[in-house]
Amino acid sequence: MHVLILGSGVVGVTSAYYLASQGHEVTVLDRQAGPAMETSYGNAGQVSFGFSSPWAAPGIPRKALKWMFQEHAPLKIQPKRDPAMARFMMAMFNNCTPERYAVNKERMVRVAEYSRQCIDALRRDTGIRYEDRQRGLLQLFRHESQVEAVTKDMRVLSECGVRHRLLSAEELVTAEPALARVPGKFVGGLHLPDDQTGDCHLFTQRLADHCREQLGVEFRFNVDIQRIERQAGRIERVMTSAGALSADAYVVCLGSFSPLLMKDLDIRLPIYPVKGYSLTLPVIDDGGAPQSTVMDETFKVAISRFDDRIRVGGTAELASYDLSLLEKRRATISMVVRDVFPEGGDMAKAEFWTGLRPMTPDSTPIIGATRYDNLWLNTGHGTLGWTMSCGSAHLLADLMAGRRPAIDPQGLCVARYAA
Ligand SMILES: Cc1cc2nc3c(=O)[nH]c(=O)nc-3n(C[C@H](O)[C@H](O)[C@H](O)COP(=O)(O)OP(=O)(O)OC[C@H]3O[C@@H](n4cnc5c(N)ncnc54)[C@H](O)[C@@H]3O)c2cc1C
Repeated sequence: MHVLILGSGVVGVTSAYYLASQGHEVTVLDRQAGPAMETSYGNAGQVSFGFSSPWAAPGIPRKALKWMFQEHAPLKIQPKRDPAMARFMMAMFNNCTPERYAVNKERMVRVAEYSRQCIDALRRDTGIRYEDRQRGLLQLFRHESQVEAVTKDMRVLSECGVRHRLLSAEELVTAEPALARVPGKFVGGLHLPDDQTGDCHLFTQRLADHCREQLGVEFRFNVDIQRIERQAGRIERVMTSAGALSADAYVVCLGSFSPLLMKDLDIRLPIYPVKGYSLTLPVIDDGGAPQSTVMDETFKVAISRFDDRIRVGGTAELASYDLSLLEKRRATISMVVRDVFPEGGDMAKAEFWTGLRPMTPDSTPIIGATRYDNLWLNTGHGTLGWTMSCGSAHLLADLMAGRRPAIDPQGLCVARYAA
């Protein structure tokens, strides 16, 4: 079967890898000059299976109100006349009940835990490296209330078999020795020893090279996808800046831009672009830098270690497709990295970046079939798209082949929004 994959972010390239590994002829299209040049370029670098949690959680509507008046808030909303933003916020708030949170968390952890197995196997099978580390993630708490709140998540983690341990303030240094330099700042933390770290852009580039060289995948860059045309319940062709292209099957991996092309096919994808920012700075003192990923729960900022760089990522801004780099947001993530690892990196040489998380209101990706026989979706991975990419792509390839997948696909396809 010839499969046309639309989009060469981390989700498109992992989809290409599993589909080509199963013997399909695969072509990948993207408007950029190479793989992972949009949201998959500068993310926070956490491959955090155990940390997969919906943003829509009980108490969030109240916190969102409070954040509106805080300087360094994790969520910012730019008031715009944007019906899509209003719909997204309503749908997200509807997912903030304890019942919906439990359903959504289980779905995310199901995909994420499977992703852990898949990425470990992928590293073994391809030999690719991407400044990766397998040393866990530490969620840091500044307040006792955060420690109390995490006990609910720990119950779900136990049910899903995810290893975790609550650390006291004194024990934090066993996971991240540099925290000894900021005593008294944190009251405890949750350690997830099986989580991982690495550079998503490097991962996607190297996997794309492997796909091209070892599996015969064709990548066509600088191609703008303009329209998808249907005929009697099937997709007939994709209209692009390089002309009309057809295949036996089509997979949409366009991240935040997926809903725009699905509209004409009468498929409503509730994906909204949630803007985030990152800084990348060179390490100047290894002993003062993180060894893996830490997540500052108060500011929802993640700080990850690559070989000789530190990546800091965070903030969520609802501002439609605007990609301007706002200095106010830079100030927030700079403040957090200075506060937690004051001697680790060289802030004067930091690179500032922004990207659009393809968020669904239930934080769960959309993976699987559509009403068109030959159109498949693998999109909407939101906050943890790299973390969930390998499991999502493997699941999709199995579903497309009519194989029994390793995890239950229930509740993951777009049909869940019709229910
Ligand atoms: C600040 C920040 C921090 C993050 N931190 C983490 C993290 O630590 N861990 C984690 O797991 N996830 C993280 N994420 C989320 C993760 O980066 C995304 O979920 C993931 O990159 C989405 O991948 P994607 O392939 O779906 O989308 P993208 O990478 O955006 O890929 C979509 C592709 O489609 C192409 N495209 C779109 N429209 C068209 C068109 N019309 N024609 C041709 N091509 C088109 C684009 O060029 C792009 O290459 C973070 C995100 C942000 C913004």
